[in-house]
Amino acid sequence: MSEEKEKTEKCIVCGRPSKTTICHACEDKIRSEAVDKKIRQERAGRTDREKK
Ligand SMILES: [Zn+2]
Repeated sequence: MSEEKEKTEKCIVCGRPSKTTICHACEDKIRSEAVDKKIRQERAGRTDREKK
């Protein structure tokens, strides 16, 4: 039994066959979104701190 060799990786974001868990296209998108989120969180954290 060598089914594990046949195991095809799929991008968890778009579901397309990919060698990696997340394909390059989605990885790039997620990265930019993560940066955007981080910046927003930092800003939110500042305002939240001021409120308290
Ligand atoms: Zn993808």
